[in-house]
Amino acid sequence: MSVRVVARVRPLLKAEHVNESIVSTASAPGDTEAKPSIIRIPNPKKESEAFSFHFNSVYDQGTTQAEVFDNEVSPTVKHLFKGYDITLFAYGVTGTGKTHTMRGGKSLADRGLIPRLLSSIYRRARRIEKDSAEETQVEVSMSYYEIYNDRVYDLFEAPEKRTPAGLPIRDIGNSKTQVVGLTERPCTTLKEFEQLYDQANVNRSTSATKLNAHSSRSHAILCVKITQTTETETRVSTASAIDLAGSEDNRRTDNNKDRLVESASINKSLFVLAQCVEAISKKQARIPYRESKMTRILSLGQNHGITVMILNLAPVRSYHLDTVSSLNFANRTK
Ligand code: ADP
Ligand code: MG
Repeated sequence: MSVRVVARVRPLLKAEHVNESIVSTASAPGDTEAKPSIIRIPNPKKESEAFSFHFNSVYDQGTTQAEVFDNEVSPTVKHLFKGYDITLFAYGVTGTGKTHTMRGGKSLADRGLIPRLLSSIYRRARRIEKDSAEETQVEVSMSYYEIYNDRVYDLFEAPEKRTPAGLPIRDIGNSKTQVVGLTERPCTTLKEFEQLYDQANVNRSTSATKLNAHSSRSHAILCVKITQTTETETRVSTASAIDLAGSEDNRRTDNNKDRLVESASINKSLFVLAQCVEAISKKQARIPYRESKMTRILSLGQNHGITVMILNLAPVRSYHLDTVSSLNFANRTK
């Protein structure tokens, strides 16, 4: 069971080019030049001082999608096929690059971790089916849902058809849970996956509009189930990729009542997530995954799997306080 907590600094956007970057990356003794592990940022209360935060790896503004994938996700795929779960989180303030990291842009080079992961999964699946000594069949299916205000909504369900109370969760033994009524769609090719994923993402933005909220206020959770069947065995494992709700503290900027309810439920789920990641990284016996809906549905840390938390950061001053909060959050997971 392992956890990596890494940070990724996004580049300055066009509109930000008049700004200077206040976040920098640095190497610790022992790092190879190519793999720095420290983020530096001025102390907001005393600019002449800098804070340093340590990570398993840090990725600076020039890092490509391919580099993040090759370093952080690609090595996990073989474990997935051995039957372990892998879970990827993108954590950060709205506007720092979570969706870019996970989903990415349309061009091939801009594709995010999710399409790259799926592409790698299908490639390996075809190879296993072709080359294994024992005849093996690999099936891939997906479910995709969001958690908004602690309620679970199926992203394959049109927003107008949703039950406002959300879908119930049921324990099914072995530390596992099931979201009752959640759609699971088989997807046999990358193309099929991409069509379903795009379609569900449209539901994600329209549902946010309906709820008079922003999609950045919900956690979007994609689960890809791999079932490998041979004559003698069936092996099931899950790759989950979570584009977390924005971690910004809305209490500072917006005291609208709905926003406060949202913030409270986001804060609680992120707090439990940090506790679970900390418990896993310290190899503690008790992981408090049952204390929030998200970690409970994911059965986080229950399957000797691999968890990767990517902390997304914006380099500009307008994010200074939120960036320091994000870094402090990540520090608590170690
Ligand atoms: P979030 O999902 O955290 O709110 P987004 O992924 O929407 O943030 O990113 C905010 C903006 O920054 C978008 O316009 C996105 O295209 C851009 N962006 C984020 N990360 C990168 C990156 N690594 N390279 C280029 N543009 C990026
Ligand atoms: Mg986003």
